[in-house]
Amino acid sequence: MKNKRSIEAIIAPPPPHMVGNGFRVHGFFPGRTIDKKRMSPFFLMDYNSKVEFAPSDEPRGVSVHPHRGFETVTIAYHGKVAHHDSYGNKGIIGEGDVQWMTAASGLLHKEYHEKEFSKKGGLFQMVQLWVNLPAKFKMTSPKYQEITRSMMGKYQVPGDKGTIEVIAGEYQGTKGPASTFTPMHVYNARLNKGAKLDFNFPSDYNTGLLVIAGSALINDERAAADHFVLFNNDSEGINIEATDDAVLLILSGRPIDEPIAQYGPFLMNTREELEQAIDDVNAGKFGVLED
Ligand code: MN
Repeated sequence: MKNKRSIEAIIAPPPPHMVGNGFRVHGFFPGRTIDKKRMSPFFLMDYNSKVEFAPSDEPRGVSVHPHRGFETVTIAYHGKVAHHDSYGNKGIIGEGDVQWMTAASGLLHKEYHEKEFSKKGGLFQMVQLWVNLPAKFKMTSPKYQEITRSMMGKYQVPGDKGTIEVIAGEYQGTKGPASTFTPMHVYNARLNKGAKLDFNFPSDYNTGLLVIAGSALINDERAAADHFVLFNNDSEGINIEATDDAVLLILSGRPIDEPIAQYGPFLMNTREELEQAIDDVNAGKFGVLED
């Protein structure tokens, strides 16, 4: 391993809030500790920590809303989410799967608990990331990448100590299926107790990890479930030792060094572009989708 990166902070989950009536999320960033550029190209991370939803005939979720200027990446750990958009796309994000949606020039969509899951109720745990796009790609056409768990790159940790699922980027030569607009690495590290391994990311890449389950020593500091570890950009190496069976979501990416203008579900470079986005929604340019 190269020299160790130092840890800037190990952040406890902020108090949760509801997104619609279906997602109880801890907004790790942007926020006070991690500002809107600190984890760029990752702009936002909402973490629905493990929660039990009671059975419901009416699926819980978020009704029709627009997005423009970025990508939403939804990673399901427990439970299932159904989505529909104004281009007629629809699908289900099942346990272990990822939906990588490029909103780019804009669409309307809705995100709900999948019907059967909703009827039965049960354990729900999910992450949604907003991945920013550089100015030159903000107005490209929307697209989807459905990345099932079986499609992910799989690096087997020596000694049968677990698997690194590579969603985007690459680990030890194992590549992830997601196509991205800027360089980044996104992995699920599913580790058995006692697993030890190293990661190296360029020191200018913003890097953090979320402990989804279990606990680990991260560069010798203990991180518990539901905590986010933010690394300084002072070196490259990260050493992980699972102190329990653990699942970690690891993020590292080259920052997008451009101005950020955000209003609700729009993520652009300037205020004028935000106003344009609102005008375009009102003019029906994002298409039509029924609630
Ligand atoms: Mn959305």
